[in-house]
Amino acid sequence: MPPIKNSMLDWVIIGGGVHGTHLSHVLTGRLRWPRDRVRVLDPHPVSLMRWDQMTANVGMRFMRSSFVHHLDLDPFALKRFAQTPEGASLAQFAYPYKRPSHAFFQHHAQCVVRQYRLDEMRVQGRASGLRRSGEGWLVETTAGTLRTQRVLLALGLSEQPCWPGWARALRDAGGPVHHLFDEDFRRDQLPAWRHAIVVGGGISAVQAALTLAEREPGTVTLLARHESRVHQLDSEPGWMGPKYLSAFHLQHNLVRRRTAIDGARHRGSVPPGVQRRFRHVVSASHLAHHVAEITGATVGPLGGVQLRLDASPSRLTADLVVLATGFEAQRPGGAWLDESVESLGLRCSACGYPIVDRTLRWADGLYVTGPLAELELGPVARNIIGARMASKRLAHAA
Ligand SMILES: Cc1cc2nc3c(=O)[nH]c(=O)nc-3n(C[C@H](O)[C@H](O)[C@H](O)COP(=O)(O)OP(=O)(O)OC[C@H]3O[C@@H](n4cnc5c(N)ncnc54)[C@H](O)[C@@H]3O)c2cc1C
Repeated sequence: MPPIKNSMLDWVIIGGGVHGTHLSHVLTGRLRWPRDRVRVLDPHPVSLMRWDQMTANVGMRFMRSSFVHHLDLDPFALKRFAQTPEGASLAQFAYPYKRPSHAFFQHHAQCVVRQYRLDEMRVQGRASGLRRSGEGWLVETTAGTLRTQRVLLALGLSEQPCWPGWARALRDAGGPVHHLFDEDFRRDQLPAWRHAIVVGGGISAVQAALTLAEREPGTVTLLARHESRVHQLDSEPGWMGPKYLSAFHLQHNLVRRRTAIDGARHRGSVPPGVQRRFRHVVSASHLAHHVAEITGATVGPLGGVQLRLDASPSRLTADLVVLATGFEAQRPGGAWLDESVESLGLRCSACGYPIVDRTLRWADGLYVTGPLAELELGPVARNIIGARMASKRLAHAA
């Protein structure tokens, strides 16, 4: 399905990650918008590419979320898939919440993309501007201009990995430092190392450290700035339904909503199962663990790195540093969206995030999902359940 440059589309989804891909399926499969009038704009050649890269870099074995959080329409589709001849041989679940293995989730996601030909709706390119045009919108992209009645912004955080200041300086000085979520980082292509330090204290850091230690036992250190915070989920399950969301929606002060979101997130946390595995591997001396703040870093004469710490040991040396320090908290999108916010007069709260209505409408014909929908959907907005929650709201989009 080639890009339509001049005819009017019904929907352009900007961003083809988990959110954009699921919502293209919802728009065409459940809400019956014609497939040839929906496009998903994303710089990557295939659906879910950043998700695939990031989760492969981490080396996660099981999803953190439950079996009803996936890309298909029916919440029980993944469970049913597990009972088919194709799915049965791969299906593996972990308790609590019957969480699918990452491999099984991936297989199911690829089947959904293939079965519903979701890749055919993609346009490979990057949005660079957004303008109103009569009743609709013009989306300027690196693949030409798209005319559409409606735009859905499905921009995740994957393009803004968080690089602490000392790590930027180290990188600029040519030090061997990478971020787990950098676009060009491939964990499985790392050359051999003598001592690797993984920096971070959350689930991705612990899983990445375990994966590297599995490859080279006894050569990896996890360096965290806090002791392990053990939580099954990244926020309490009450945030997925009325238990907490009812009060959240009654709160009309968006600064307070932001405070509630920040307070609800178990940032830098690890589920008990991953923590148990971590403890076991540390006690077998296959992995070292230190809790300290990094106060500075220098590149040594032989290209290695020395990290200065505020606790004992006061220094660590390594020939590989891998950051698992999450994402920058600022509104995703970057310069082109900042300019659109300005020129279109789009309303934002003090935190910079969109002020949207119940249907996730930011302006006539302009909708959001993922982190951009946080002030309406709450702390789980950026997770897979957030895409599923967004789909219910978008059903009422004009
Ligand atoms: C390692 C890891 C494990 C996770 N595990 C779970 C889990 O088990 N369960 C769960 O519910 N959640 C999980 N999450 C959280 C969340 O579900 C994922 O981060 C998910 O990938 C978010 O999807 P997204 O589509 O919002 O964002 P992204 O994956 O960031 O996709 C957005 C896409 O938009 C594109 N884009 C950006 N700017 C433009 C532009 N200008 N024009 C066009 N395209 C653009 C990007 O290149 C990208 O392809 C996990 C996250 C990570 C990082």
